[in-house]
Amino acid sequence: MLKKQQSKLVVANWKMHGCLTSNDVLLHAFTQRAVTLEPQVRLAVCVPYPYLAQAQNRLTSTSIEYGVQDVSAHTHGAYTGEVAASMVAEFGATLAIVGHSERRIFHMESSELVAAKAQRALESGITPIICVGETLDERQAGKTNSIVYTQLAAVLDRLDDEADVARLIVAYEPFWAIGTGQIPAVQQIKQVYGAIRAQLMEKAVNIHVPLLYGGSLKPDNALELFSQSDIDGALIGAASLSAVDFLEISAAVSIALSENQDDSK
Ligand code: PEP
Repeated sequence: MLKKQQSKLVVANWKMHGCLTSNDVLLHAFTQRAVTLEPQVRLAVCVPYPYLAQAQNRLTSTSIEYGVQDVSAHTHGAYTGEVAASMVAEFGATLAIVGHSERRIFHMESSELVAAKAQRALESGITPIICVGETLDERQAGKTNSIVYTQLAAVLDRLDDEADVARLIVAYEPFWAIGTGQIPAVQQIKQVYGAIRAQLMEKAVNIHVPLLYGGSLKPDNALELFSQSDIDGALIGAASLSAVDFLEISAAVSIALSENQDDSK
């Protein structure tokens, strides 16, 4: 039997935004709110590297997890500007986004490079959040499933141990939905999720890898998405820079989880 997680994970992706002062305001608001949420709502923040120490300082004694938005595919060496997963781990980070579409597209990262990054993260005890998703042209050409399959296969092909598969998180983030206000229909998300689940089952039958959704998630569409029991959480970009929006989204998770529990009684 596939073990289904009861919790939902909401990850703020701050991208290249923030400063020490504005981060403090947001982290304070997040931590105040975290204590009022259902225990099954997991909150996390992925910050720009320079703010990792700040996140560690502010979040260590809270339930909020934190991490980064990328790691190097290398362990160490002459790679100017790169940051190793082991360095990030020294600051107590537990999560690293890898393969975000802004890196795949603007920095031309291949799925093989993303897979190496995911592996370095795992080796350092960090959970990689592997972003997969298609462009609008790819969707219109009917290639969504094959694009997502290839992106995820590169990671899965590197993992021989089911225990490593069990430590992955996958985020389905259609590139055309990121920062555009456009959002796929729930049925479209479910269709992609079905394909991802089938692919994961080929690799590890008994493992439930959390599947997040990302792309223009806002307070007004959060409840509909989180009410879907197969959506295990979300990656939030723009809305995570507003304490009000992020906290409303977190509250929607709380409501969705309690509604799901009522339904299963
Ligand atoms: C993202 O970039 O991961 C993301 C989900 O962005 P937004 O919420 O701004 O669409």
